Amino acid sequence: MTSSTHAPAATARRRPLVAVAGNPNTGKTTLFNRLTGSDLKVSNYPGVTVESHTGSLALPSRTIVDLMDVPGAYSLSARSREEEIAMCAIAGLAGLPMPDVVLLVVDATQLSRNLYLALQVIELELPVVIALNMTDMIAQRGEAIDAKQLAVELGVPVVEISALHGRGLTELAETIDRVVETPASARPGPRWTPASDALRADVESVVETLPASWVQSSPSRARALALWALLSLDENDELTDVSPAVRARVLERRARAAESGRQIDTEVIGGRYAWIDAHLGSVLRRPSRSVTSLTERVDRVLLHPAFGFVAFLAAMGLVFQSLFSWADPAIGWIEAGVSVLSQFVRGALPAGLVRDFVCDGLIAGVGSVVVFLPQILLLFFFIGLMEDSGYMARVAFLMDRIMRSIGLHGRAFVPMLSGYACAVPAILATRTMERQRDRTLTMLVIPLMTCSARLPVYALLIGALFPPSNVFGFVPVQGLLMIAMYLFSTVMALAAAAVLSRTLFKGPRVPLILELPPYRRPHWSSVLRMMWQRSQMFLKEAGGVILVCTIVLWLLLSFPRRPEDAHQLEAARAEFVARGTPPDEIEAKLLSLSRAQAGENLRSSYGGQMGHAIEPAIAPLGFDWKVGIGLIGAFAAREVFVSTMGVVYGVGDDAEAATLRERIRLESRADGKPVYSPLMGLSLMVFFALACQCMSTLAAVYRETRSWRWPVFMFVYMTALAWIASFVVYQGGTWLAAR
Ligand code: GDP
Ligand code: MG
Repeated sequence: MTSSTHAPAATARRRPLVAVAGNPNTGKTTLFNRLTGSDLKVSNYPGVTVESHTGSLALPSRTIVDLMDVPGAYSLSARSREEEIAMCAIAGLAGLPMPDVVLLVVDATQLSRNLYLALQVIELELPVVIALNMTDMIAQRGEAIDAKQLAVELGVPVVEISALHGRGLTELAETIDRVVETPASARPGPRWTPASDALRADVESVVETLPASWVQSSPSRARALALWALLSLDENDELTDVSPAVRARVLERRARAAESGRQIDTEVIGGRYAWIDAHLGSVLRRPSRSVTSLTERVDRVLLHPAFGFVAFLAAMGLVFQSLFSWADPAIGWIEAGVSVLSQFVRGALPAGLVRDFVCDGLIAGVGSVVVFLPQILLLFFFIGLMEDSGYMARVAFLMDRIMRSIGLHGRAFVPMLSGYACAVPAILATRTMERQRDRTLTMLVIPLMTCSARLPVYALLIGALFPPSNVFGFVPVQGLLMIAMYLFSTVMALAAAAVLSRTLFKGPRVPLILELPPYRRPHWSSVLRMMWQRSQMFLKEAGGVILVCTIVLWLLLSFPRRPEDAHQLEAARAEFVARGTPPDEIEAKLLSLSRAQAGENLRSSYGGQMGHAIEPAIAPLGFDWKVGIGLIGAFAAREVFVSTMGVVYGVGDDAEAATLRERIRLESRADGKPVYSPLMGLSLMVFFALACQCMSTLAAVYRETRSWRWPVFMFVYMTALAWIASFVVYQGGTWLAAR
């Protein structure tokens, strides 16, 4: 990291900069919106403000200051990228501008935990103003906080506010005004300093390795930075901006401390909390008679081993149900709307390339983006409710033990569950986890869950290849197969998570912070705003990629074109008319002729040629090149496999299921053997269960990780897994059958 404290950029900036920092969920965004009037996301889950947002505020003195929203962090001792960003933004490191005021939002209802961060920020000798937020709740609870005393203990101004109700904001602005004008020399020194000689020696030793720009400003700030490095760096932190010299020295000191039986982390963290405990007594006044809070009473039920679990199942059932069936009508409307629009445009434009592009490429492409909105809106509605009410933290708490055993975060449960409906909203939902590692890992396994787009494919194959019958006399084979596919995908997803978390994602196990936030009544405006912003973000960023892919896929499957088709149809019509064939018979014959042409078109298109080209690769799985075309078409969305196969076999893309099933049963190879057998069907279903055949999923992962690395990795690992599993099924089955 390089300090820009004295960089020219900082002096060239005219407006003073106020960094709005604090623990997650303390109301930073709410306050930010209040002060700047800008429309930022308000939500109740940590880590949501990963990007920094800015706005401006006119102070009473008419000075205009810039405000910057800093990612929420429990401490500056950073292990993750997000915490590192928070640290840099607060301390003006790594090229980020040095704030002129750090506006530290402190949740008055969680004073002890919040003051930890405050101590660290004050140690860094930054100009701090503390906004003591949620004071409305303190009053409600019958508690009181002596803000004046708190200011004395901390040595920095403390202003009582309620961001939600807009109270105390004038005084806050006045205080910021005052601090902007205060010279740096007036800042208080560190509140807590290392007590033991050993720890002091560690600090001094690390100070020696700090870059000159860090040490320049003041010796005590340098010591604070050294302390920060001592707590932040270890064998597997995710920090990227730290100089190798500092890292080497820290690791050396930590190792040496460990040898002599000392725990640097414990010494520092324990020391700071001891300071807080010692000074909190004079600040916080609780009502003498301890009343059990509403939160405690509710938690007695919701965290109860039995009732809690029932409530949990009910909540998850609701989420699941909404994604699966409540979104359906809206999806139907969107699809109907898209098809009406497409029909309308088809009627309005002259036949030809442009018309086909607009109708089949562009409108269909936009439709394939918008169709995700109902599920995204619903999922984020429920996530918003759960986060905002404080229940999400309980879900994470309940699921953490189980999820952790396979290397996933407790919060990964809701996204994984959503994956049964659709991977795209599920991937967006990984945002509820703070750490990039947890988010990426969860994203990588979500597409293995059986999403609803696989159902039509399974239904087609099971219907065509497994005649209705019962095993053990009463269990229907078809239903059993469907359930088996669900189980298979779930087991594979969990296994993939277990493997990935022990290999590629091996990392520090960050303990879940078990302090549960108090329940709050969800605020509709923040839930709605969150839904709105998630959808907007999806449309803007993933939507573009999906649109482009849809169009490319359309081009692949429609070119080269055979211009003679239309003439052929006309010639055939003229011939039938001349022969005196009855009109409805003519229509039927022409329809089947045009379907045959469409099939021919598709088979000779670039996509068709690709299907041919990949045949050698998929032949060992039991698939022929026509199935290959279906696999390529399915990349738009898995259910498109069904309509692509309809076109490939010349039965039309909206052919009745029965027609297509019949056609599939009849399809034979050059040697007369049927292409489809129950074994090949099974192999194909296994392929669909595991392969990453969904460009929208890839686009969503790209959007969330902001790099092509993970989508490419996901595509490769899932396709390889699918190929191997299908190979084992098909070849194993063939071998068994031959014996
Ligand atoms: P951030 O994570 O720090 O940005 O916190 P948010 O601004 O997203 O707020 C978290 C939750 O606390 C939201 O549900 C807010 O509506 C709520 N909240 C914010 N300020 C106050 C306040 O002063 N009083 C109460 N009761 N709730 C607040
Ligand atoms: Mg926020």
